[in-house]
Amino acid sequence: MAENDFGDMPVEEFRRHGHAVVDWLADYFEKVETLPVLSQIEPGSLRKSLPESAPEKGEDFDAVLADVDKLILPAVTHWIHPNFHGLFSTSASSVGVFGEMFTAAFDMKGMLWRTAPASAELEDTVLDWLRQMMGLPANFEGIIYDTASVSTMHAIAAARERANLNIREQGMSGRSLPLLRIYCSEHVHSSIDKACITLGLGTRSLRKIECNEGFEMIPEALHEAIVEDLNAGHMPLCVIPTIGTTSTSSVDPVDAIADICEKYNLWLHVDTAFAGSAAIVPELQHHFKGCERADSIVTNPHKWLFTPFDLSVLYCRDLSMMKQAFSLVAEYLKTSDESTVKNGMDYGIQLGRRFRALKLWFVIRYFGREGLIARIREHCRLARLFASWVEASPDFEMLAPVPFSLVCFRARPTGVDDLDTLNERIMNEINASGEAYLSHTKLHGKFTLRLSVGSIQVEERHLRKLWNLLSAHTQAEPTA
Ligand SMILES: *Cc1c(COP(=O)(O)O)cnc(C)c1O
Repeated sequence: MAENDFGDMPVEEFRRHGHAVVDWLADYFEKVETLPVLSQIEPGSLRKSLPESAPEKGEDFDAVLADVDKLILPAVTHWIHPNFHGLFSTSASSVGVFGEMFTAAFDMKGMLWRTAPASAELEDTVLDWLRQMMGLPANFEGIIYDTASVSTMHAIAAARERANLNIREQGMSGRSLPLLRIYCSEHVHSSIDKACITLGLGTRSLRKIECNEGFEMIPEALHEAIVEDLNAGHMPLCVIPTIGTTSTSSVDPVDAIADICEKYNLWLHVDTAFAGSAAIVPELQHHFKGCERADSIVTNPHKWLFTPFDLSVLYCRDLSMMKQAFSLVAEYLKTSDESTVKNGMDYGIQLGRRFRALKLWFVIRYFGREGLIARIREHCRLARLFASWVEASPDFEMLAPVPFSLVCFRARPTGVDDLDTLNERIMNEINASGEAYLSHTKLHGKFTLRLSVGSIQVEERHLRKLWNLLSAHTQAEPTA
């Protein structure tokens, strides 16, 4: 790099390296299934192989790219691997990666319409496309946040705003307020607890409602809890049912819960972070009954709509409540077109917002509604197929129903007493092998294996491979 060079990488150099990067990524997508799913490195080993301080002089980008192969790749856990079945698989597509390239190049901050008209208007358009595909009512308006944790935190803030407690100005400290209550099931995602912590409601405000045998919130128990809280002088604020819970992907009865919310004038926020994408599939839409009555609903295209992380969507029946909660226009941000345009900064705590809509637009246009439906449908078919193997085997059993593409099961060979230890061993051995990645949960006190099907590359042969691994490790003696 020249002495008094004050500019960026020369454009011809960018072009050359850019082609190399795209080639690298194409090779990666092609060969990812041959790599170990979980990174095999020991903690701290990447740090040890990196210099302690930044380079004094600029380096050639070829050398940097070589280190991606040598140092970074071994430290990557391959979320896009077709045998990544832990947590919730990611469905990210290569076409979505193009979106991230443009977004980084434009580097626009979507605070005002004026600073990023493309972001503001494309966001409104693709979110309306998605709303239609999901069968949500026309008066639902969406906004993009980074993650569901943030979407849900904003939804609860809007619910709090609607309760007219003047918290925006007065805060919650140094004054006397009733105990505010948020209700969810005992199988709720930890992001709800964190939202209560963040908003100053405290985890005490979160009341977890009992579930039935199928891990679904019991509406009668919710009703009783609300009545009990009202009698105690507390203030019910919001109910958060989940469609596709994190442990088992169970479906809370949103329609029955909506009746209760209407009766007591409570904000209904539906968490469909994982399963929401399945609402575009006609034969799965029945799981979403009642969502049309919600005040807000969160879904994550970055989970199961083939969009690279991160992109979470919050739909609100009355998005102006979010604006009322968060709009704060500093002098230097005042514009003359405020009344005619949508300024993203008015709808949350972030000022600048990434141009995330672009990758979702690429994904929806490239696959089309039919292509998206076909892929989600196939994931569900594969999950049910896997479940049928579990059901047919004397050595395994199912531990929860399969409404979407998540299978909860365990090994249960005859003659083994400690099934928890056995299943934990099977999971750890398979994960350590790098052949596949499974995670677990506890259901009715039982150590449960969770298999999520969602990689855009997953095929039946990948599930066969996992099934063979499971059978082999179930038969095998512990490898101490
Ligand atoms: C994944 C998930 C979340 C959290 O999503 P993030 O985008 O990672 O914050 C919340 N709720 C449910 C039901 C989820 O599946």
